Amino acid sequence: MTKGSINVSVENIFPLIKKFLYSDHEIFLRELVSNATDATLKLRHLINIGEAKVEYGDPLIEIKIDKTNKTLHIIDQGIGMTAEEVEKYINQVAFSGAEEFLNKYKDSAKDAGIIGHFGLGFYSAFMVAKKVEIITKSFKDEPAVKWICDGSPEFSLENVDKTTRGTEIILHIAEDSEEFLEEYRIRELLEKYNKFMPVPIKFGTRKQTLPLAEDAAEDAKPEEVEIDNIVNNTHPAWTKNPSELQKEDYLNFYRELYPTQFEEPLFWIHLNVDYPFSLMGILFFPRLGNNINIDKDKIQLYQNQVFVTDEVKGIVPDFLMLLRGVIDSPDIPLNVSRSYLQADGAVKKISQYITRKVADKMNSLLKEDRPEFEKKWNDIKIVLEYGVVSEEKFAEKSDKFMLYPNVDGQFYTWDEFESKAKENQTDKDGNFIILYATDKDQQDSYVASAKEKGYEVLLLDSPVSPHFIQKLEMSKEKISFVRVDADHISNLIKKDEPILARMSEEEKETLKKEIEASIDKAKYTIQLEDLSMSDAPFIITQPEFMRRMKEMQQMGGGMFGAGNFPEMYNLVVNSNSDLAHEILSKPEEEKKELIVQALDLAKLSQNLLKGKELTDFIKRNFDQLK
Ligand code: ADP
Repeated sequence: MTKGSINVSVENIFPLIKKFLYSDHEIFLRELVSNATDATLKLRHLINIGEAKVEYGDPLIEIKIDKTNKTLHIIDQGIGMTAEEVEKYINQVAFSGAEEFLNKYKDSAKDAGIIGHFGLGFYSAFMVAKKVEIITKSFKDEPAVKWICDGSPEFSLENVDKTTRGTEIILHIAEDSEEFLEEYRIRELLEKYNKFMPVPIKFGTRKQTLPLAEDAAEDAKPEEVEIDNIVNNTHPAWTKNPSELQKEDYLNFYRELYPTQFEEPLFWIHLNVDYPFSLMGILFFPRLGNNINIDKDKIQLYQNQVFVTDEVKGIVPDFLMLLRGVIDSPDIPLNVSRSYLQADGAVKKISQYITRKVADKMNSLLKEDRPEFEKKWNDIKIVLEYGVVSEEKFAEKSDKFMLYPNVDGQFYTWDEFESKAKENQTDKDGNFIILYATDKDQQDSYVASAKEKGYEVLLLDSPVSPHFIQKLEMSKEKISFVRVDADHISNLIKKDEPILARMSEEEKETLKKEIEASIDKAKYTIQLEDLSMSDAPFIITQPEFMRRMKEMQQMGGGMFGAGNFPEMYNLVVNSNSDLAHEILSKPEEEKKELIVQALDLAKLSQNLLKGKELTDFIKRNFDQLK
């Protein structure tokens, strides 16, 4: 037996490892199972290239709990290590890796985010174990060895009897980590990190009933046998060629990934690229509607089938964080901090690739089956609008597949919409005025009067729509979006000959003064307009700019910060209307009554009649019925 001391400058590295990794102790199992997987796949490779002349067989990785001795065992049938290799890989290489890590991150230990996801490899075992043994036999014809280390830089190494190839890691679990001797806990970890690893992982056994033979006697009892309980699917859908997979396979995989999701995804995108980086994966579009929960069932990131994280911010473009699925790439650097990740070239390329793939997919969905695409629009618009707003590359491609539904459920592409509406809705300065509603029911009377005039009204009602509209106005020339209730339609698109006035300027001035006496002047600006006889006599509008500022403030941004942006409206009075004339001609008492009633009706159609005003309005109208 040899005894030695691992050459490190930090006197005792293990307490440090423990301390720095407090948030993520559980990853030790992922690291050890990954090592076991690597060792198995390396052996297969060596056999394939003729360097190892041994039988590969059907190797497994076994996880065993020994409650009596308080040990956890990770056993593989991979390449194993010779005494020399243990010296080199465990005492020197692995250790220097751990030490380097500690030197680098000691000072930033408070930033738990950094420590979150890196591989410390073999030494992470000391986060949960007070003593670790390695019993290993190389595929080469050399004696098996046993290495023991109790968490100090001292170790021992001796020959042992082990005839089977491979490595067994024995963790003597520390008192404060005894949760890892519980079956449910290990099962949970295997489920989280190793569900799709490429080598079968055995954890315990389970009973299986054998089918009865055809010629079995009538009273024969089916035989029960114990079989290995394999916890992982070694060939998850994303590792397969898309041409091998049917719709059902994708749906099954979705259920496997998110067992608590009962709703089927709308569609999926199979990612598969070798160059200039390697990446595989499947992205699912869930049915989103307007309510989104981004904290549940997120996209999962894997590295060679090992779960790494479901915090994919920075790798996946923001707008796709609403999707589900898997991304697997050996090229994503995992041992580094998040801020580094975002600046990493490979990561940027991956993000761009995914963005492009999603744009291409939208394109082909629209081309292949437009009615189906339209049916799904409500569930995907939020992702796509967000994409246009936040990713320039996506925005550039988006004219091909973005749809613009009108209030009657008819869908246009941008080009279609332009050729349908532009001519009719261009104002005298040549601006294309695009009318839209955000709430069909609430804005119904405004929508109706716009439609009456032959205008198209789009329905842009997602939470992202305000930003989407802004983005379009910035990227397209001479267009301007105006909500149907933002101004009087006739003022928006003034092209026709002016309508003859039925009221003199003095009369208008008088009428204005009388209305002013019954209304909150700080909130309403009164405009007397010569509109057509068929237009409503009193209409309340909220200027587009004002409303947007207010919305922005509510969303917590904008230049007005936390201050309170005042509510301001226009009251457009149609001086050509019969009502306006009637008000002028009535005696004082009735005048006032008419004005109040007309104002209330106008407020009612903007949903502005509330509280006492509403109660009074209802009471007054009931009284009139008597
Ligand atoms: P990494 O896996 O990142 O190289 P580790 O600290 O996890 O770092 O492991 C160090 C080295 O020890 C590995 O590269 C490998 O050569 C060896 N090793 C670890 N576990 C095993 C194992 N189960 N079988 C064979 N070799 C192993």
